[in-house]
Amino acid sequence: MADNGKNQSIPVAVLGATGSVGQRFVALLDAHPWFRIAHLMASERSAGKPYREAVNWVQTTPIPERVASMMVEVTDPSAIGECRVAFSSLDDTVAGPLEESFARAGVLVVSNAKSHRMDENVPLLVPEVNADHLELTRTQDFGRGAILANPNCSTIGLVLALKPLDDAFGVRDVNVVTMQALSGAGLPGVGGMQAIDNVIPFIGGEEEKMEREARKILGQVSGGKIAGHGVRISTQCNRVSVIDGHTQCVSVKLGQKVDVQDLIRAWREFEGEPQRLDLPSAPKPTIHYLEEENAPQPRLHRELGNGMAIAVGRARPCSLFDFKFVTLSHNTLRGAAGGALLVAELAVRKGLLEGVEAPGGSIV
Ligand code: NAP
Repeated sequence: MADNGKNQSIPVAVLGATGSVGQRFVALLDAHPWFRIAHLMASERSAGKPYREAVNWVQTTPIPERVASMMVEVTDPSAIGECRVAFSSLDDTVAGPLEESFARAGVLVVSNAKSHRMDENVPLLVPEVNADHLELTRTQDFGRGAILANPNCSTIGLVLALKPLDDAFGVRDVNVVTMQALSGAGLPGVGGMQAIDNVIPFIGGEEEKMEREARKILGQVSGGKIAGHGVRISTQCNRVSVIDGHTQCVSVKLGQKVDVQDLIRAWREFEGEPQRLDLPSAPKPTIHYLEEENAPQPRLHRELGNGMAIAVGRARPCSLFDFKFVTLSHNTLRGAAGGALLVAELAVRKGLLEGVEAPGGSIV
């Protein structure tokens, strides 16, 4: 039993532990009921230093005491011993081959990087939306290991809002304009002179990522393959002067004529596999529909459900599409570290990792 009184029986490694998302992992894992940080890994620039010296800590809670003095290691699978789970927040330029090397060493890698997201046999998971896509790992050839991908942060907020509508009415066309937080750009991020008093109407590769990832996540798995969803999606992505929380203005065309109250009911009644399995990071509910005419707002609503729920508001008819609404999600919690934790909880509870059992038992 760990000293915080939790049953943190599963040792894990954090790859990219010094970065913006890596820090979130460290903060969340410190209090996690199942997982215990056993290794912190980053680049050679950080390796060999105590974590407190290697990291530029920008979280609002202090560095967990147990972790502050841990040595940062080079990112090498031969160094992690019996540890079978790794959370990767490695820089996109190096993540691909490094994550594969961990998977080949028998590790379940839950990745935040874009490198493997569109691989045919890698599930791109938002556990409430497509838990059934886990079966794609059966066609991976990493032996006992596997790679699971966490989607792009904006895509996660978007598909969570679309999924209940798609299940109930069918989503045909989507137009979305994002207002994305500065923390989404990693560390050191956007310079002050660019960020303050400004909106930057370009985030490299983001629009393309959102469109293709959403179609994969909302798609159907059959016979070990994914058929992408046929929805047409047009995105425009903007960086705005907000620290955390991606806001998205969405217009949708649906497959049925419905009333705005039907949309609100679909969001409010939505429940996914993580809630049914009572996973530790599963928010209840996942979607908060807010009635206030000026909601959601990042500063007020990004922490709903410990940053794992999304907020939706302003649902109303649209004169071009059928309906429009605003959705808000926390980009480094639900959109990165928290989302990846939920993915790992789902995989472990579902018995994906031979020899690693969830506290309370896995369902095989
Ligand atoms: P970041 O702050 O730049 O951190 C990158 C991490 O990668 C650092 O720990 C860095 O270690 C490590 N790294 C860099 N080069 C390395 C190398 N050659 N070998 C081993 N480690 C290396 O980036 P971030 O914002 O946390 O993003 C991390 C990943 O998550 C990216 O793939 C990003 O696209 C994705 N993501 C980010 C967000 C977000 O909201 N920020 C959301 C979703 C997904 P050093 O400190 O030692 O250099």
